Amino acid sequence: MSDAAPAPVSQDFIRELIAADLAQGRNDGWVITRFPPEPNGYLHIGHAKSICLNFGLALEHAPKSRCHLRFDDTNPTKEEVEYVDSIMEDVRWLGFDWGEHLYYASDTFEKLYGFAEQLIGKGLAYVDDQTPDQIRASRGTLTAPGTDSPCRNRSAGENLDLFRRMRAGEFKEGERVLRAKIDMASPNMNLRDPVIYRILHAHHHRTGDAWCIYPMYDYAHPLSDALEGITHSLCTLEFEHHRPLYEWLIAHIDGLPGRPYQREFARLNLSYTVMSKRKLLRLVKEGFVAGWDDPRMPTISGIRRRGYTPAAVRAFCKTIGLTKYNSLTELNLLEHCVREDLNKTARRAYAVLRPIKVVLENYPEGQVEEVELVNNPENPDEGTRRVPLGRELFIDADDFMETPVQGFHRLVPGGEVRLKYAFCIICREVIKDAGGRIVELRCTYDDATRHGAKPEGRPKPKGTIHWVSAVHATDVEVRLYDKLFTVEQPDEAAGEEGDFTQFLNLHSVETLTAKAEPALGTAAAGAHYQFERVGYFFVDPRDSQPGRPVFNRTVALKDGFTKGKA
Ligand code: ATP
Ligand code: MG
Repeated sequence: MSDAAPAPVSQDFIRELIAADLAQGRNDGWVITRFPPEPNGYLHIGHAKSICLNFGLALEHAPKSRCHLRFDDTNPTKEEVEYVDSIMEDVRWLGFDWGEHLYYASDTFEKLYGFAEQLIGKGLAYVDDQTPDQIRASRGTLTAPGTDSPCRNRSAGENLDLFRRMRAGEFKEGERVLRAKIDMASPNMNLRDPVIYRILHAHHHRTGDAWCIYPMYDYAHPLSDALEGITHSLCTLEFEHHRPLYEWLIAHIDGLPGRPYQREFARLNLSYTVMSKRKLLRLVKEGFVAGWDDPRMPTISGIRRRGYTPAAVRAFCKTIGLTKYNSLTELNLLEHCVREDLNKTARRAYAVLRPIKVVLENYPEGQVEEVELVNNPENPDEGTRRVPLGRELFIDADDFMETPVQGFHRLVPGGEVRLKYAFCIICREVIKDAGGRIVELRCTYDDATRHGAKPEGRPKPKGTIHWVSAVHATDVEVRLYDKLFTVEQPDEAAGEEGDFTQFLNLHSVETLTAKAEPALGTAAAGAHYQFERVGYFFVDPRDSQPGRPVFNRTVALKDGFTKGKA
C-alpha cells in the first residue's frame, strides 16, 4: 500500500477502544477511518498527527480496514482547488494512500439535502426567519436557557415549502436558516436548535452555482461519515461537546448505511509555532513568509522544503502518542526525530559557512593531495570520496578565537588543532586588514600527525575542525533557518486582543555564501546532506538550478543551535 508500513504501535485509548470493538465483533471486524480536511489552506504538522493516526489505524488493521480522504468542502467561500491539490500531495508525501476512497462532502449535497427534508417531515427541523443576531441572542448562556424562536412551531408543510424556496434561491443570505429542533434549554449549547443549513449565494469549487444553501459542518460531518461507512470518526478534543449533536443526527435520520461513532484526542500544539490555518494564511497573505511552502512554515509543504523527511514526521507522531488532554509539545522533539532519521541517511559533506583563509606556510606551493572521507559512517555501503587539500584552506570563523574564552578548544594564536581526517596545524600569525578584521591565519602543519598519529611527548590537541581547500572550494548559497517565533506560545502571548505577528522572529532566516567541497557544486535538488559539525541541509527543490544548488538548513546538529552559529 505504501512505504509507511505498520510498525508495532504502543497502545493508546483509541486503539484500546478499537480493540474492544473488534473483540465484540462490531462492524463485522472492520475498521474504517477518514481524514477529513477542509480545503481552506495547506496542511500543517498538526494535521500530520491526524493523518498518521487515521491512515496508521487502517494499515494496522489490514485487510479489513481502510482510510478515506474526504474533503469537507461545505463552505464555498474559503475553499480553493489549489488547497485540494496540495492536501493530496502532502498526504501522499507522508507515505499514505487512500486508494479509490477519495470523497468530497459536496458530492453528497443532494443526499444531505434529502436528510434535511426528512428531519423536517419528522418535525425535527424548522426554518427560522430570525436574523443571525436574533438567533445568537436567543441561544441563552451557559447558565441561562435559550428562548424559543417564534418560528419553532411551524408546521412541517410550511417548513418544507420554505426550505425548498431557500434552495430555489428566493431569499437573501441571512434571511432564513434551517435549524434542528432539539432542546433550547439543553446544558449543551450545541443542542440548542443548531443551524444546519444556511443561505450562501456563493460559487463552489466543485458544484459551481448549483446550490445557494450549504450544510453546516456539524450537520454534514456525521452524515458524511455515515454515508461512507466510517466506523471510527476520530477528531480533536474541541469537538467533544459536538458529539451529542453527532449522535442525535445519526440516531434520527433513517436510511443511513453506517453507524459511526466519534471519539476525540488532543490536538498537537507545538512550541514556537502557530497552527491554525487562518493564522498561517495571514502569514502568507501579509508577506511575513514567502508562501505556504516557505521552509520556516509548520506546513507539510514547508517542512518538506526545509528537508524534514516523511519517516521523521511519522516517528514524531508515534513518539507523541495520543492523549485526552491538551498540552504543548517541544519543537525540539520534532527536530530530534528529524536528526535521528537524517543521521542514518544523509551523506556527509564539508562546508565552511563563515570562511577565514588559512595558509599553511610549510606546505609546498602548488602541491595538492587527496584525503579520503567517509560518506556516511552509519552506512559503510555508501563508501568514501576523495577531497582535495592544499596549501590554502578555509576554516570556519567560529573555529578560531584570537582571545579565547575559557573552554575554547579549537584554533587560537600559538595553539594547535586537528584538521579532521588530515593533520594538525598550529597558528603562527593573525593577519588583519586596516579595519582590524581578520583576513588570514598563517599556520604550519605537522606531517607527523597525519591519520590521527600522535607524536611522542606532545599533548594531543583537544579540538578537531573541518576545512575545505581554498582553490578547489565551490561557493554555494546556504540559508540558515531559525524559529519563526520568539516565544514558545505566540497565541497565548498575544492573548485574545493581541496580534501573534508581533512575536515573529525577525531573524528567522540568514543567507550566506559558504565555501563547500567541490562535489557540492553539483548537488541534486532534493538531496540531504550532513555538513559535518554544522547541521543537516537540504538542496532546495524550488530555488536550486543545475550547478547552482541552494542549501536549506533543515536542522542544526544539536539542540540549542539556534543563532546561526557554526
Ligand atoms: P485549523 O485549526 O488549522 O484550521 P482544522 O481542524 O480546522 O485546523 P481541518 O481541515 O478541519 O482543519 O482538519 C482536518 C483534520 O485534522 C480534523 O480531523 C482535525 O481534527 C485534524 N487536526 C487539525 N489540526 C490538528 C492538530 N493540531 N492536531 C491534530 N489534529 C488536527
Ligand atoms: Mg476544522
